[in-house]
Amino acid sequence: MFPFFLALLSIFYTLYFLIAQFSHSSFIKDKSKILIVTAHPDDECMFFAPTILNLLRHNCHVYLLCLSSGRFYNKSSVRKEELRQSCKTLGIPAGNLIISEHGQLPDNPTIKWSRLKTSSIILKYIRHLSATIVISFDETGISGHLNHIAVCESLQYLSIKGQLPEDCEVFLLKTVFLLQKYLGFLLVPLLYVCTNFCFVSTFHDVKTTWKSMKNHKSQFVWFRKLYIIFSQYVYINTFIKL
Ligand SMILES: [Zn+2]
Repeated sequence: MFPFFLALLSIFYTLYFLIAQFSHSSFIKDKSKILIVTAHPDDECMFFAPTILNLLRHNCHVYLLCLSSGRFYNKSSVRKEELRQSCKTLGIPAGNLIISEHGQLPDNPTIKWSRLKTSSIILKYIRHLSATIVISFDETGISGHLNHIAVCESLQYLSIKGQLPEDCEVFLLKTVFLLQKYLGFLLVPLLYVCTNFCFVSTFHDVKTTWKSMKNHKSQFVWFRKLYIIFSQYVYINTFIKL
């Protein structure tokens, strides 16, 4: 049984290696202006690292808008600094990080953010940066966090109201089932074949993601250490187009 398991693991490992080395996601043009919208410091490396690292490799201009400073633990200044360091590790230029700290958008899993306020902040930065691609959470927000969901609903609202610039496309990071979420790289071959919109991390990217997460010292508790080893979001991001 054990040799069979090892053989199977080797096959998945090899397939992952080949896909990571040779895949090229062409759904986003090189040198595009991309706005990634997150809710909290650490979302960027816990969920979006394969995307960020691939986009930077293709000379895209990556901007990160984080809509709160992680005040839930009353460590706002610590968490802002951790986010700056995390972005530095990922390769996002310091000037491309925007941390919004609006009173109506607190870091709190029990408070639903105002859709109007959230969408107006996002739209302000889309216009200001002339972003042609916006990337964020889908309607279940990966972890079900209400703040993540609010970001998605605000983007949906902007789209329905026709307020997004004509040349602006929105891609939402697909939430996967709990078991699938922790199968790490094992499902990458299948997911890669089944979607048109995805980014796969190379081994170097995975190491960079781990380093980036370590910058979030205040959050780096045991279950997050396990998360960054096993989570699929460290190895592949798949998207749906809004
Ligand atoms: Zn979050």
